[in-house]
Parts: sequence; structure tokens; C-alpha cells
Amino acid sequence: MCVPPVSPVSKVFSNQHLLENILSYFSNDFMQNLDVRLVNKSINNTFLRLIRQNHRRMKIEYICEQKKIEEVPKDYIYINYRKINNQNVQGYFIFLSTAVGVKVEKIITKRLWMLEKKFMQRLHNFIHSQLIGTNGTHIQSVIGLEEICDGCLQCSKIAKKCRDYGPVRFDTLKTMNYSKNYEKLHVSDKLFEVIAEYCISNSNSKKECFEKLNNTIPSRISCNTLVIWINESRFLPNGTANLKYDHRHMPREVIDTILRKWSVKSIQLNMIYFTSEGLCSVDWLQYDYFTPVRLNDPYSGTEKSSDLKFTRVDVRMSDSIYCVRGFGNHQSELQEPRGYNNFIPNIRRLFPTDNISIDLSHWYCIARKDIEKRISTILEVVTMEKEQKLRLNIKFFVELPKMEEKRKEEILKIAPQYIPREITLHCFKKSLELNEKKGFNEEKWIGKRFQVEDFNLDVYVKENKLEEVKNLLHEYPNSFVNHFFSDEKRN
Ligand SMILES: [Zn+2]
Ligand SMILES: [Zn+2]
Ligand SMILES: [Zn+2]
Ligand SMILES: [Zn+2]
Repeated sequence: MCVPPVSPVSKVFSNQHLLENILSYFSNDFMQNLDVRLVNKSINNTFLRLIRQNHRRMKIEYICEQKKIEEVPKDYIYINYRKINNQNVQGYFIFLSTAVGVKVEKIITKRLWMLEKKFMQRLHNFIHSQLIGTNGTHIQSVIGLEEICDGCLQCSKIAKKCRDYGPVRFDTLKTMNYSKNYEKLHVSDKLFEVIAEYCISNSNSKKECFEKLNNTIPSRISCNTLVIWINESRFLPNGTANLKYDHRHMPREVIDTILRKWSVKSIQLNMIYFTSEGLCSVDWLQYDYFTPVRLNDPYSGTEKSSDLKFTRVDVRMSDSIYCVRGFGNHQSELQEPRGYNNFIPNIRRLFPTDNISIDLSHWYCIARKDIEKRISTILEVVTMEKEQKLRLNIKFFVELPKMEEKRKEEILKIAPQYIPREITLHCFKKSLELNEKKGFNEEKWIGKRFQVEDFNLDVYVKENKLEEVKNLLHEYPNSFVNHFFSDEKRN
């Protein structure tokens, strides 16, 4: 029998696994590689399926530091970490919804409110029409979209479909008169203020005001985790900004009412350098109805909630500047101390819990030259109040100094109180190379645990930097970096 020779190319095409690998390379940058769809039908199908997979979760963001808002061009955004020109966005989305048939489950939008207004509103509508669809059949999570529209009818309908949604604006909150348990519901410090002012302006006495509050907070919804977005640089109207600390007071009774009515089990705090809600309202402070609180006030003035208890409080600081800075630096050494050394004791008073975990930033205020000192300071800050029964976990990201540098001894020691644990951790973090304007790269970070009683400090360094210092370690056998290799030696 004579078997016709099989060409290597068709072998590749008939091997689905191989084909996927090849195409996944193209589909990562599929807008540039649409031609591969023309090769044959099997390629086309696999290609579209990979794109479908890559777009179940979508992150759509504009990237710019607040100080550079004038300089950074506004004619492109990043979609799933790839740079896309504004004029191509509509085509992209239409391609996704028609040719690809995406079923988007999760959408995160970030800082789109900083874009030019007209494009921003069109983008909001494209997201609804092309990615979510009017019925929102597949959508489970939408984060940040209301920053564009300040809460609209379309968004409030989607809020009802999601398991994870927000931050909700007041207009959306008012529509939540249905019964539903959210996995995560996001709110902002500004929302608390808006609610307080709404209740004050619709009542004539403190008693009436609290009745109004009780009626305003929807009572048929609940959430497992309440995510609170806290803006670190809110400003007061008319430039009355010379108050002692930034990020302004929150009306405590509003927070407490929400926590109780929604049967919140755990808290997540997102500390954010700046958000779309910069301007404070101050009218509510003229009335002595609500107790003003903030997490960076001296903690001795914060009363402890007597009846509330949460399984855990998670703090995200990847977009924080002031709060993250307050952890590794002495207040006395900061130019403008902002009181964040009070952060943990205040958390325990406002959101009573025995379990706090904190992710410090992997890109801002990262320790470079003074690692040992930072690590000691963190310990001082977290043990400032003699905590009772607190399990605390901090992820601390460290940049290793170049080994040629003179001050090598800085990487040598870990503060003496810490006991190194032979636990190796790792995580992946994406960061944007702003200089190159190329896009994001993902880096692997390796972590080692250092412990003081119930406090775990997980120190992370970039894996590739660790390779660089490896050779020089025999000169510094007591370096904390040594612990990163100790398991390897043993195994
Ligand atoms: Zn909307
Ligand atoms: Zn205060
Ligand atoms: Zn980041
Ligand atoms: Zn070790």
C-alpha cells in the first residue's frame, strides 16, 4: 500500500496542541495577526477560540500619573495590557463581539475618567453594547465603570447581574431595592459622604436624619466582602487644604449602618493615591450628627465598634503613595507625615478583626537602599499598639541594590527580631515600562517569610535580580538574601 506523504505543515495543523501553542503566540497580539485566520478553517477556529479565552477577563485602562496629566497623550488606552489607539477601540470591540463572539465575564476599567470626555462616554457605551451586551448574560464582575458615568441606568442594570461590582455611585445604590447576595460590593469614601449629606438635607433633626439613613441604605442586599476605596489625596473646596492630614473624614454611622445591613463578613481596603472623586463635601461636618473618622487619625480617638466582627481585613496598596510610605518610614523623617502609622490600630477599631493582611506596593516607594531600616520600621509601626490576638501578614517588595554599589552591607542584615522561616513564596506582578512605552512586562517575584510572633513579613525580590547577586553571596554569608537560597542548598 502506498501512503501519500504527509507534509510537515499539515501535521502541525492536525496536532491541535501544537497549533494552539503557535496561535497563542499570535493571538496575544491578534490585531496585528489577523492574516493567520486566512490560512485555513481549523486555524481560524483555533485562533478565534484563543482570543475568546483571552478576553473572558478584560482590563481596560488609561495610564498616567496625576502630576503628568497634562503631558501624557490621551490618544491611546491599554486593553489587556496592550496599547490600543483610541480610534481602533470600536473596531476591536466589534470584532470581539461579532467575529470572535466573546463572552466577557469580568471587566476592570481603570482611570478612564481621565480621558477626553467625548471619547470616554463613547467608550462607556461601547463597553456596554459590545462587551457586556444589553442582557449581560455572561457578565459577573464590572469594576470601575461608574467612574465614567457617575452611575447610569445601564450600569445599574448590570450591577444587578454581577457578583462583584462597583464602586457604586449613589444613583445606582438607590436602585438596589432587590434581594441579592454579592460576593464583593465596592463603595468609596465619597459615597459615604454623599449619603450623609443626602440624609441631612432631607431631614430636620438628628433623629430624622438617622431614620433617613436607615431608609436610604438598601436592606435586601448583602455582601460577603465590602471593598472600600479610599482616596489618599482628597481636597477641600476653595483650597482650604492646609489641614493636618490628607484623605478626609468619613461619616462613621454611614459605614456602620452599611456593615450591619449588608451582613458584611470581611473587608477589603483599597488605598488609592487619587481617584475621580477628589473633591470633598464639607457640609455634613457642620452638623454634629455623624462621627468623623479616618484611618490616619491618632487611634486613641477612635472608638472601638462593640458589636461588629470581621473574619479578615485585606489592604491593597498597589496604587497607594502616602499610606504605603507611612509603613516603611518613621513619621518624624517624612516631609509631610500623614499619620498612617495609626492605620492598623484604626482598622481594628473601625472593622474589628483578628486577621489583617497588607500588600505593599511593588512599584511605588519600594525599598532599595535602606532595606534593613525599612524592615525594622515596619515592625515598629505594626507593634506600636500592643495588639491582642492579631494575625498580621505583610507582603513587602524589595529592590536589591546592584552588587557593585558600595553600600552592599545594606542587603546584609534583617532586623534582629525577625526569625527567618524556610517558606518560599512567589507571585507575578505586571509593571509598565513607562520609558519604553512598549507595554507591560510580567515579572516573577520570590518571597521568603520572616516572622515575629504572629506577624509575618513576606519579603519579595525579583527572581532575575536574585540570580545576579547569587555569585557574590559567599562574601556575605549573613545576608538576608542568603535565605532565598538556603532551601536549594538543602534539597
Ligand atoms: Zn454607566
Ligand atoms: Zn479626625
Ligand atoms: Zn501594579
Ligand atoms: Zn533561611
